[in-house]
Amino acid sequence: MSDNPLSPETLCAQALGWIEPTTKAIVQPVHMSTTYLRDEDNEYRSGRSYAREDNPTWDQAEELLTRLEGGAATLLFSAGMAAATAPFLALRPGDHIVAPKVMYWGLRKWLIGPASEWGLKADFVEMDNLDAVRAAMRPGRTKLIWAETPANPMWQVFDLAALAEIAHGAGARLAVDSTCATPILTQPVALGADLVMHAATKYLNGHSDVLAGSLTTARHDEFWQRICGVRTSCGGVLGSFEAWLLLRGMRTLPLRVRQACANALHLAERLEGHPRVEQVLYPGLASHPQHDLARRQMRNGFGGMLSIRVKGGEAAAIRCAAQVKLWKRATSLGGVESLIEHRASIEGAGTPVPGDLLRLSAGIEDAGELFADLSQALGA
Ligand SMILES: *Cc1c(COP(=O)(O)O)cnc(C)c1O
Repeated sequence: MSDNPLSPETLCAQALGWIEPTTKAIVQPVHMSTTYLRDEDNEYRSGRSYAREDNPTWDQAEELLTRLEGGAATLLFSAGMAAATAPFLALRPGDHIVAPKVMYWGLRKWLIGPASEWGLKADFVEMDNLDAVRAAMRPGRTKLIWAETPANPMWQVFDLAALAEIAHGAGARLAVDSTCATPILTQPVALGADLVMHAATKYLNGHSDVLAGSLTTARHDEFWQRICGVRTSCGGVLGSFEAWLLLRGMRTLPLRVRQACANALHLAERLEGHPRVEQVLYPGLASHPQHDLARRQMRNGFGGMLSIRVKGGEAAAIRCAAQVKLWKRATSLGGVESLIEHRASIEGAGTPVPGDLLRLSAGIEDAGELFADLSQALGA
């Protein structure tokens, strides 16, 4: 755990205040070398040998994330999915995991498909029901609870402290996909989580121009060593230029996240009374089933993500998405520009997501202009 009392605002703005020792530069250079010189006696005293193992351009972003999450160490990956799959690849065939029924679809698809063919056993539960989670635990065999909160794209909030207790009571670990919460809104490690994952492609970078992922561990242990081994051997490492861009994006993380939260809350409140909207899904609304939990577990806001269920079903939802002018009809989230997406279309057959649902990623534009555009698209 970090004992540094500095706020996320200060840590991010100064990117930990690192100064490049040779030139005194305030912005660190991009190291492009893939290989490092061996000492004459055959040692590698620099600590670096090859860029699939280790790259100095990762160091500052990894250290900043470790501090923001209050963890012990962080690894950057080439994508959110490379980070998300690493803990499962560090398990063994026959091991059992528990995950939410509705979660980031790409990972759910991977768990149901390739991971189960490889021998991993997965149970998908309604994670807001802690009894269902307890009932799914298989003593001695369950190695990991995977949570995502708020969870794509219904924005359910899961009780991380309670899940950590259930996991640890069964000798398992809790890993949290905290992409949509960001370390500004939720700190899973402080609530008992063992691993925190981010699709850094989203809020951490924040400008829709870098694909990246991260894992932060609460402690150095044998499982973390196995995860480090997965990254090095599978090679899902981040390029130097991408790591540099990611750090540049992270310098404004608190500002961007706060503005996205304010915009999302503004939109959620106005859309809730909209004549063409059946339901608004947003943890910041009193009508949200886990609103009280969100108030306890989240700070600074309830996130920049919300979904609406459009009156008139799937066709009406797709029609609305077709008619936006300011919002961009695109997948992904967490950028400075607002995005709208019909999730059931992209997730395809077998998705638990209703056809009338549109997912909204609130950017940092003017909230009134965002609402006006959505409202005309809904046909009010
Ligand atoms: C985008 C996303 C991922 C996957 O990240 P990639 O960078 O696209 O591989 C995982 N989890 C959540 C919540 C995401 O939004």
